[in-house]
Amino acid sequence: MVPTVRLYNTFTRSKEELKPLRDGVVRIYSCGPTVYRYVHVGNLRTFMLPDLLRRSVEYLGYQTEQVMNITDVGHLTDDTFDRGEDKMLVSARLENKSPEEIAAHYTLAFMDDAARLNIRRADHYPRATDYIPQMIDLIQKLIARGHAYEAGGTVYYDIASFPAYGNLSRNTTDKLLAGARGEVDPRKRQPGDFTLWKAAGEHRLQVWHSPWGPGFPGWHIECSAMSMSLLGERFDVHTGGADNVFPHHEAEIAQSEGVSGHRVVTCWMHGGLLMLGGARMAKSAGNFFRISELEEQGFDPLAFRYLALQAKYRTKLSFSTDGLAGADRALRQLRERVAEWSSAAQLQEPDDAVAGGYESRFRAALADDLDLPAAMALVAELNHSGVAEGTKASLLRSWDRVLGLDLDRGAVEVSLPAGASALLEAREKARGAKDFATSDRLRDELATLGVAVTDTAQGQRWRTTSKKSP
Ligand code: AMP
Ligand code: ZN
Repeated sequence: MVPTVRLYNTFTRSKEELKPLRDGVVRIYSCGPTVYRYVHVGNLRTFMLPDLLRRSVEYLGYQTEQVMNITDVGHLTDDTFDRGEDKMLVSARLENKSPEEIAAHYTLAFMDDAARLNIRRADHYPRATDYIPQMIDLIQKLIARGHAYEAGGTVYYDIASFPAYGNLSRNTTDKLLAGARGEVDPRKRQPGDFTLWKAAGEHRLQVWHSPWGPGFPGWHIECSAMSMSLLGERFDVHTGGADNVFPHHEAEIAQSEGVSGHRVVTCWMHGGLLMLGGARMAKSAGNFFRISELEEQGFDPLAFRYLALQAKYRTKLSFSTDGLAGADRALRQLRERVAEWSSAAQLQEPDDAVAGGYESRFRAALADDLDLPAAMALVAELNHSGVAEGTKASLLRSWDRVLGLDLDRGAVEVSLPAGASALLEAREKARGAKDFATSDRLRDELATLGVAVTDTAQGQRWRTTSKKSP
């Protein structure tokens, strides 16, 4: 039976039961990277959220379908105040390449970095530039429904036309207006109105024809178009980083609901920011680490995953290389343990009752809003427990389907030579009966087969060696 999964919904600020719209399939849209620079580990923490969501709910018996977009146009340098230059064009200029070359290079780099963290691939990676007709269609509908207006070839969303604007971020319109500092575009009816389509102006690159003249889309409309094109007008979960709540997701709700006339996303999930030296890790501020840099410093990239798993996904997490070093040590030790315990697995009876207890606590942690820190605490508890080693190994290997830490990397797949298993069993019995003469003789026999046996407080352990001549 699939247990009840509860997820924290930013929209209602409460944990709600996951009830997939389609039987047994959780359908997820995740805001992906803007491919103008390399991603840093802060971005990767956010992309780990849907990965953990998928792995967790799949472990609990659901199927998933995930869309993650690639933003390759329209994301302005100052997205909070809806102004500035397109980030893609800034990079194209700096690197003396076309926006397409920039996008292709950083998309590949993103895929590579995500794979280093065992972030599973999404089912679809739509690129914003492939969905311009769908965006234009949505904008036309918004104009027709009185939610948008055109001025000078630019189309704005009229936030006054959507009374629920501000509900996700809990910003009232007054607060939103107060926040609009500096020079405001005089063609906007209200300073808080945001751009759906921007007139090309001086731009010659990344420009498309539209009913309002040449231009390019705003960042927010991209996610409405790609999510509804691929997942339809209702889907289960939308993920992003905490900094996407406003304005990006607030705007997405106004657009998607403005067109469809109903709720589109059931649950909004947001990952907490990764901090560095007290400030948000950010590409633009230059205070960031790439996963490959950490790898060059000798860290296992999955140590970052281990570190991230120890904090609740919704909380801020302060990054430090000391913290990462601790995670790296703990991860390597855990892998060594799993390797040792796996060799014991073949000699011991599984401890089914105990395993069942641990397993249900692990599942309960996942089902409680992806409580991975609780799951990691359970890993530590199991590690230090007196549970049979083989049981420990099989539980941890199974849990690793969710944790994604490659816990069995240390365990070389070894198989016993013919006849060794029976000898090991006989020796275990002889030891139990305190028949040490027999047990010593069997140890020698095993050694000639290439199996070295040592005795520990928890029973005998074996490893394969090169064969010893009799
Ligand atoms: P961008 O490529 O700038 O569009 O960012 C990609 C994703 O990374 C967005 O969903 C952001 O919310 C997220 N993000 C950016 N900075 C951080 C950070 N310091 N910690 C966690 N997530 C972040
Ligand atoms: Zn988005």
